[in-house]
Amino acid sequence: MHSFNVDFGAHPAHSTAAMHVPSLIEKKRDGHELNKGEIESLIDAFVDDEIPEYQMSAWAMAVFFRGMTPAETKSLTDALVHSGRMLKFPKNSPPKVDKHSTGGVGDKVSLVLAPLLACDEVWVPMICGRGLGITGGTLDKLESIPGFNVNLDEKRALKQLDKIGVFIIGQSTDICPADKKLYALRDVTGTVPSQPLIIASIMSKKLAENLDRLVLDVKVGSGAFMKTRKEAEQLAAAMINIGESMGVKMSHLFSAMDEPLGRAVGNALEVAECVEILQGNGPADLVKLIVDLAEKVSPTPRAELEQRLQNGRAWKKFVSLVYAQNGDATALEKILELRRAPTIRPLPSKSAGKVKRMDAELLGRASLLLGAGRRTVHDKIDFAVGFSGIKKVGEPVDLKEPLLSVHAGDERSFQSIEPLLDKAIEVEAV
Ligand code: URA
Repeated sequence: MHSFNVDFGAHPAHSTAAMHVPSLIEKKRDGHELNKGEIESLIDAFVDDEIPEYQMSAWAMAVFFRGMTPAETKSLTDALVHSGRMLKFPKNSPPKVDKHSTGGVGDKVSLVLAPLLACDEVWVPMICGRGLGITGGTLDKLESIPGFNVNLDEKRALKQLDKIGVFIIGQSTDICPADKKLYALRDVTGTVPSQPLIIASIMSKKLAENLDRLVLDVKVGSGAFMKTRKEAEQLAAAMINIGESMGVKMSHLFSAMDEPLGRAVGNALEVAECVEILQGNGPADLVKLIVDLAEKVSPTPRAELEQRLQNGRAWKKFVSLVYAQNGDATALEKILELRRAPTIRPLPSKSAGKVKRMDAELLGRASLLLGAGRRTVHDKIDFAVGFSGIKKVGEPVDLKEPLLSVHAGDERSFQSIEPLLDKAIEVEAV
């Protein structure tokens, strides 16, 4: 990146009159560094609806292609945090802990991990997002539970923390409003897999939480935004740097995202899988990752964390969380009946052998086409659609045995994704 000294009109108290937005877009497009004032002005004006979405999308695309320097990324993170308020906790309140994932297909870890951690004497003030690109979002999954409210105001959220030790909410007009808007825009403009945009988006939410400890689940593979270990390492290092500079004790792990996590993809289908885990069952890969992450921020030994998934403690905490946020907890065990897709079809294997590939990226794309994600910022998603019973790589399969079941809105959308599924799944002879 070149050094570039001309000031395009940054202004401490932002004003669109003082700032020429097309020039800032062009500056980034041409690979130059924006200064802190310019980034702040842009973000503040965007939050105040003074910059139209088409200009912000163009700027995000310029960042996607040109990247950002570490100083720009830090300025963007600060601007996103300060677009709203940071949570304030009473003196002597328990340690605040959380985890954030860089995004994956079938990644429903937060729904189990948050209540599991909240069984300790800690607070889990989890702020997260909706579906992003090919990955699902915790908020959309929770909203598939009838009544679940992800929009608590700060006062109510803090009261809930005091009572049950956990909340899960989205960005709001008070907390990270700029990330809320930019996140929704990135989702539908092809600007998700950009390191600086991911770093600022994740770290702004976590810094607004005013945490003591944070564990990052850094995904690598076809269904992740970082396709190589090297990129994932860069992403992790930058986030750790920002977190530590703000006094947060950071830990992380890298987890594979070449096949979906667990056996379900799609909002209500993933909630059903979480219910299984919280009731002591569920897929081994998912349970292991949840406990691996919990161990990084919990004072509790691994065996006891595992025990909490078996003995109903984490399940009870999840039920209290759902009740506290107006969700119908009686719906949890019948979510698959309540959110049943009209067309459910098994996908039979065309040969016998073992599963060689279950491509997370293509399955993520297929789930978007079924309606599990958005095409425009105003789209409503279909909670019922997705995939269940997904075979894991390495598992044996007989001729005609289902490789997964497709849950679709109608026969046509089922047929429209069949070619993608053919590409996504490979069975090898043994
Ligand atoms: N999670 C987020 O909150 N933001 C991103 O950009 C990616 C994952």
